[in-house]
Amino acid sequence: MRLIARALLLVALFAIALPLPLDAAPPADTPRTHIVQPGDTLFAIALRYQTTVTAIKQLNHLGESDIIQVGQKLLIPASASPTLTTARHIVQADESLYRIALQYGTTVRTLVQLNDLTNPNVIVPGQALVVPTNSNVVKPGVLIEPQIARQGGTLLIRIARAGLTKVTGTFGGKPITFTPSAGYWYALVGISRCAKIGTATLNLTLTDATGQTVAETTTLNIEATAFQVQHLKIPAGKTTLLDSTLQMRENAQFNALVNQFTPTRLWSGVWRQPLYGPVSSAFGTRRSYNGGPVGMCGHEGTDFDVDAGVPIYAPARGRVVFAGTTQVRGELTVIDHGVGVFSAYFHQSAIFVQAGQMVEPGMLIGKVGTTGLSTGPHLHWSVIVNGEYVDPLEWTSRVMP
Ligand SMILES: [Zn+2]
Repeated sequence: MRLIARALLLVALFAIALPLPLDAAPPADTPRTHIVQPGDTLFAIALRYQTTVTAIKQLNHLGESDIIQVGQKLLIPASASPTLTTARHIVQADESLYRIALQYGTTVRTLVQLNDLTNPNVIVPGQALVVPTNSNVVKPGVLIEPQIARQGGTLLIRIARAGLTKVTGTFGGKPITFTPSAGYWYALVGISRCAKIGTATLNLTLTDATGQTVAETTTLNIEATAFQVQHLKIPAGKTTLLDSTLQMRENAQFNALVNQFTPTRLWSGVWRQPLYGPVSSAFGTRRSYNGGPVGMCGHEGTDFDVDAGVPIYAPARGRVVFAGTTQVRGELTVIDHGVGVFSAYFHQSAIFVQAGQMVEPGMLIGKVGTTGLSTGPHLHWSVIVNGEYVDPLEWTSRVMP
């Protein structure tokens, strides 16, 4: 009896939160299947199962094609994007579907599908619409992804309001730079791996076409990331590289490189990994060298345990801003991807690119080695956003922006 009541309650909750036909949830991590029905599109299926077109295409090896056929059996990724939530929006007097889509960081097409609208041009004031949001809507038209801000994570802040000519801001007291895009302004913000846990303030100044400015303040909660601890033994021949003066000097040179801001975003879509292999030291791992104290601020990248000579490929489009020898980072390549986003490759045995050169995703840029402060062949991969090292692997699983 109690079970039935609970099942009914669950059904009722789903009916309120997400009025879409949902199948009973299968066990976690088991791919579901979907038989293509008349009228189905990849987009509609992705929306229904709270996943993405890209994820369905990859799982089913569909390549570039969007074509599916009635009766075709598709594998659906298990809990690919469990964060899709919906909200209810009441249409106001001067609103269009386009304006509403902008405000919630979604598209007209999504709103049409979700609300089963026959004519997107006809919406009436007072009408209730279901709006999807993967973002944390902190204020109308101020959207932040992902929902949880964590140490070492990358935040995408979007200001989706019509008619803005300029957006400036700070996060945690540090200036952030906004870039105009189709219908919104965005900033990518790296959260330090040793950021203080708790609230951080986002200050925004929005300027409209008449020159009027509006200031907005909101706070975000920064959550802890559970970083591991690792004890490293540096061989006798390389202990001079642990010298703090030497490290500080090299860090200053590196920081000067990655704190530039190129206004054009050079990449699009999800990044690929520079190579594939076991991760021997995750991003942010707190480290102790030769029995010394564990560092307060952990590993600046992700280490892949692969053999010397393994090829390294560019993960995304960008321009090389440094390719050469350093003492601590060894043979080093730094790529500027635009809008304050950089990637870097440490300890290489060979470099195949030069400063100033453009690289495309998948282009061979170097080979794995153990040059600089390294205990054996591996690739150290760093991603830097707005001057902060962030978890590189987040960039291979999210579309930014
Ligand atoms: Zn490393």
